[in-house]
Amino acid sequence: MIILVDMDDTIENLTEAWINYANKRFGTAVNAADVTTWDPSEAFLSVSHEEMYALLLEDELYETVEPLEGTAHYLQKLISEGHEVFIVTNSPYQVMKVKMEKVLFRHFPFIDWRHVIITGSKPLIRGDVLIDDGVHNLLDGDYAKLLFTAPHNRSFDAKENGMVRVNCWEDVYKAIEKI
Ligand SMILES: [Mg+2]
Repeated sequence: MIILVDMDDTIENLTEAWINYANKRFGTAVNAADVTTWDPSEAFLSVSHEEMYALLLEDELYETVEPLEGTAHYLQKLISEGHEVFIVTNSPYQVMKVKMEKVLFRHFPFIDWRHVIITGSKPLIRGDVLIDDGVHNLLDGDYAKLLFTAPHNRSFDAKENGMVRVNCWEDVYKAIEKI
């Protein structure tokens, strides 16, 4: 199968790293688990949307991003079983190089750069399955849909919308076995 895998908050903890980075910068104490909307700036009462999103363009942020538990193990397992794994990400072009070097290839050195797709429109990409925490990336896609649980999508009814909710990478692996 061709397995499409989102990057941010599906294989690594960008939002958590971003919130911690913002707390240090702005002297705030926002807990990542309490950010239940897609836009984390809504949880920072003293920080504007622009100030929050400007941090995503700082190279140092990406030094602090860590893989989610089990991701490298299960990605390697899927690849060794013969699946083609493609990372599909929508990231600001200004930080693409540092993000690839300091996050993707640092923590997932077995991923070849030719298996990275950068796009603002994931539903245009063809594959057998997409694993993603962003509901909008799954809704119109012509692939099996695994919704990776994140605080911002917890109240979304995955089943009603033709998706399978997965809470961890063991869930992802089991769900892929059933496809
Ligand atoms: Mg994501």
